Formats: sequence, structure tokens, C-alpha cells
Amino acid sequence: MEQRQKQFSLWYFLAAIAIMLAIQNLFFGPHAANLSYSEFKTLLRAGKVSDLTLEERAIRGKLRPEGLEGLVSKEKLEELKKFGQGEHRFVTVRVDDPTLVQELEASKVRFTGQLENTWLPTLLSWILPALIFFGLWGFFMKRMGAASGVLEIGKSKAKVYMEKQTGVTFADVAGIDEAKGELMEIVEFLKTPERYRRLGGKIPKGVLIVGAPGTGKTLLAKAVAGEAGVPFFSLSGSDFVEMFVGVGAARVRDLFAQAQTKAPCIIFIDELDALGKARGVGGVMGGHDEREQTLNQLLAEMDGFNTEKGVIIMAATNRPEILDPALLRPGRFDRHVALDRPDLKGREQILRVHAKQVTLSPEVDLAAIAARTSGFVGADLANLVNEAALLAARKGKNAVEMADFDSAIDRIVAGLEKKTRVMNPKEKETVAYHEAGHALVAESRPQADRVLKISIIPRGVAALGYTQQLPTEDRYLLRKTELLDRLDVLLGGRVAEELVFGDVSTGARDDLQRATDLARHMVTQYGMSEHLGLATFEEPRTPLFLNVPAPQGPREYSERTAEAIDDEVTKLLADARSRVRDTLTTRRSTLDALAKLLLEKEVVDRAALDRLLGAPSA
Ligand code: ADP
Ligand code: ZN
Repeated sequence: MEQRQKQFSLWYFLAAIAIMLAIQNLFFGPHAANLSYSEFKTLLRAGKVSDLTLEERAIRGKLRPEGLEGLVSKEKLEELKKFGQGEHRFVTVRVDDPTLVQELEASKVRFTGQLENTWLPTLLSWILPALIFFGLWGFFMKRMGAASGVLEIGKSKAKVYMEKQTGVTFADVAGIDEAKGELMEIVEFLKTPERYRRLGGKIPKGVLIVGAPGTGKTLLAKAVAGEAGVPFFSLSGSDFVEMFVGVGAARVRDLFAQAQTKAPCIIFIDELDALGKARGVGGVMGGHDEREQTLNQLLAEMDGFNTEKGVIIMAATNRPEILDPALLRPGRFDRHVALDRPDLKGREQILRVHAKQVTLSPEVDLAAIAARTSGFVGADLANLVNEAALLAARKGKNAVEMADFDSAIDRIVAGLEKKTRVMNPKEKETVAYHEAGHALVAESRPQADRVLKISIIPRGVAALGYTQQLPTEDRYLLRKTELLDRLDVLLGGRVAEELVFGDVSTGARDDLQRATDLARHMVTQYGMSEHLGLATFEEPRTPLFLNVPAPQGPREYSERTAEAIDDEVTKLLADARSRVRDTLTTRRSTLDALAKLLLEKEVVDRAALDRLLGAPSA
């Protein structure tokens, strides 16, 4: 590639020189025959010269064509005939001849003197070498740059893409109806900004879409643009990270300036976390200068512009927790849309969208495929349909069959299992009982928060499932009995595993940690232990400073007290465990039913839970 490029520019160079020579020849080439001075003198004396121009270094003139034979050689005559028909033009070098003027006057030849026009040759003699020099210099710099990347400085990797029409609509986005509903308002606003303005309504500036990779964040943002029929500007936060100081900020400024002229429109920033990491987080060297400048520019732009024009900024991240809080303040990304991994129904809908692109054999059951792909996100499902189609094509089939989907699932699952995004059936059962345990204990304790939703869709390495609880009211004070109930709920998962499988898994690590912390706080800070009384024993930890936990102060109590604290904590946990054991043993049939429902549906919401609890034996 590089070799070819080199030849290429060399050819350009040669061609340019050739063209220049040709032009020069055309304008400054010979327009007259060359005569020697003696020939000129002979002709002059013979009275054949008519007009003469004396230049500094040459003599130009015309000859009368008649009777030239014998005065000049035959070849010269031929040459002379080429220049001028009636009168032959000639040129000769002017030699030092003091008597020339007298001779001319004597032979009555009309003659004029002329100052030579020298600016052009002079100019060329300066400019040409300069041009050649710069040409060569540029050529070598380019080659060096290609090798070392030096000249890439100006050309940043952060590209802003602008799509007039994304061509994506809400119909292309399946299984996330809730998120679509939330964004409908934005679409309406972009369609008719005047209407909202008239009513004085405030439209959000920034919408943050939060979700695991491949859950369709980009797709959703594009769909909003597509539905509203507005241009879509996009850039990725991670592109800014390696850039030189100042470039990123300039890009952001450009982007907003461009977007203003195209309003209404959407600006989409992918991987906002790369750009908007909390300042001071990560990196021993402190903040990343460039990133901070870019982030500050982004904040400034967001504060500076007016939504009235109809510019909406959307951003995507899968790590909202590390974002700089400044980004989430009112007037910035204050609207949040969460994309969960799709549940059974959602997966089927997504499969349906992508299956439109391929020819399906009638026996293909998308619902069955959805059931087998727990943990898959939208991108995985799109990939699955594509894989299956490729497999079918390779086998020369006319339609994609169930067998192709089976092989494709196996292939993709193998890849995903490494990332622990897909569980095997045994793991799934364990997680189902674990979550059912949490939920059932929560439902059995009057003071525990109500269960909102239970899910066994894996959300990453740490959490294989979760039970979401909704506090019924904001609480500032918690009584001891409430904290004990909380402790029970935390242990519910682990105890259910013990009870059902007679064996435990590593999945309860986080629960146990939180339970231990809670018990410890009860003993050391809230004075809730009968043994140790009302004394508090540990200073609350100072908040994180630059992500480094502040060192714990020296212990202010004796070894014996320390032991007593440990004993109390252990006792609190042991008591909770036996209470939970009792609860789950008496409600075992409900536990089984809930776990079964979870395995089947993957997500159990409040309504489904109520139905189940209403008829525990079902
Ligand atoms: P993210 O930005 O969250 O990483 P993308 O929006 O880039 O994910 O999704 C990648 C691809 O996965 C999309 O182009 C689309 O083909 C597919 N996809 C993801 N989610 C969905 C969905 N909800 N419905 C249909 N297709 C989806
Ligand atoms: Zn748990």
C-alpha cells in the first residue's frame, strides 16, 4: 500500500513538471529562426532586413522574403520559411558591435530598442525551486508521518457522524416498551417544538440511557431520531480518551455549533462514562487532563444552549455509577431511561423483529428459542438469527430451520458462558430458589419492604438474579425490629439454598457481606445489643476521598470488647438464620411454587406474586 502511494505521488510530480514545460514552450518557445550574427550582418548589408528590435542580449527582426537565396544556406532558408509567411522572423544573439546603429541608420532600417521583459524568468527561477523543495518536503513528511503517526495529531479519531435520516423507527426496537413510552414525549417534542414552547413546558435537555452492552441503547436513540424525523449526530466518548489536550473540547464545541444549525436534532454520545468518569476517579496520576477539559466543555455547552430550539442530547452508558455527579444535575442528564436485559416475552419480540430479515421455515418456534436464550441481550439475539441464517445457507437450505437455530444457540452460548451471562440449568435452579427465598422471607416479615419484582435474568458477573424491594415510605429512623427483618431478608437466599439443596453456593457472598455489616452496625453504632449496651465503638468511616477509603482510626476499645462485639454479631446472624429457616420450612410449598414460576417466567412481578401467594398450594 505504501509503496504504491509513493509511486503515485512521484508520478504526479513528473506529470506536473511535464505540463509546466509544455506551457512554457507554448508561450516562450521559439517564434523565430535562429541566425548567426554574421548571417544577420550579411542580410542587413544586402538590405533584406525590415523591422528590428534591439534587446539587451538579442536582436529580433523580420526579413523581406524575396531574393534570400545565396545569402544564407539552404537549411537556414528552410528554417526561416517556417516562421512567418510574407516576412520571416528571426532572432540573433547581440554581440558587441559599436557600429551597428550607424549601419542601421545608413541602410534606413526601422529599429526600436526594447527593455527585456525579465520578471517572468526571474520569478520562475525563484518559484520553481521553492515549489520543488516544498513538494519533496511534504512528500517525505507524509511518509514519515505514516510511519510514526506524528502528522496524525490534527486528525483526531473522534469522528462526529451525522445522519439525516436514521431509518430506524420504534418498530425496529422490540421488548423495551417501557423505555419507548418514556421517550415518546421526546419524539413529540422534536416533531412539534412550537407546540411545547407555546405552553411553556420544560423539555429535558439530556436523556441518559442506562443498560448493559447490546441492550439496544444506540438503537433506541436512533429510533427516537427516526420517529421524529430529525438528524442524528453521534460520537463516542471513548474516542476522546487518547486525544491531545484541547482537541476534544474543540470537537464538542463544533458538534454543538453544528447541531444548533440543524435543530431540531439529536446529539447522541455513546459510552458517556469514558468521557464523564467522576473527576479524580481512577489513575494514580490523578485526573486525565484531556478528558476533564472535554467533559468541562460538554457541561458548559449543555448549560449554555437552549432546548427551545429543539436540540436533545442523549447519552448511553453501562456504568452510570462512575459518572461525574455534575453530569446528572438538573438541566443536564436529568432524565434516565433504564434498559434491562429482555425477559422471555421481550426476547421473543426481538427475535421476531430480526427474523423478518431471513426466510424462516414454518416449523421454527420463536417462543421456544426465546425460552432457551435467557440472559441474551438484543445484540445477542440479532447475532443468533444471523448465525442461524448463515448455517442454513452453508448447508444450501432454502429456509432457516429449527436445527440451525439450535446449533447457533449452542455456539453463542459457549461464547457467552465465558462471560457468565448464561447459566446452565442447574445454576438457574439455584438462583431461582435463592431469589425466591429472599422474596418469600420479605413477604413473611410485616416490616420488610414490599417485593416489587423478582428476576433471575443474569445482569453480569456479580448478580445472577435480584429481588427488588420498594420501601413503602421514606425512612429516616429504623427500629431494631425492622433492622432484624432486614437481616432476615438478606439471609433468605442463602438459607433457601441450604434447605432445598443441602448445599450452598458462592452466590450469597454479597448478601452475607451486607448482613454482616448490618449486624455490626447494630452492635457498634446503634447500641442495639443487650450485652454491650449503649456505648458506640467505631467512628463512622469518613466518606471516600478520591476513591481511596480513608484509613480507619485506631481502635478505641480493648481486646475483650472486640471479642464481645464479634460474639454479638455472630449471635445476631445465627438467630436470624434460625428464624429464616423456620419461616421457609413452614412455607416450603410456596417456596417451591415461586421458584418454579421463576424458572418458567424468569421475571415475577408484584401481580404474579400476589396471585401465587393467594393460592400457595398451586
Ligand atoms: P448498545 O448501544 O446498547 O450496546 P446497540 O443499540 O448497539 O446496543 O444494539 C446492537 C444491535 O442489537 C442493534 O443494532 C440491533 O440489531 C440489536 N438489538 C439490540 N436491542 C434490540 C431490541 N430491543 N430490539 C431489536 N434489536 C435489538
Ligand atoms: Zn441474594
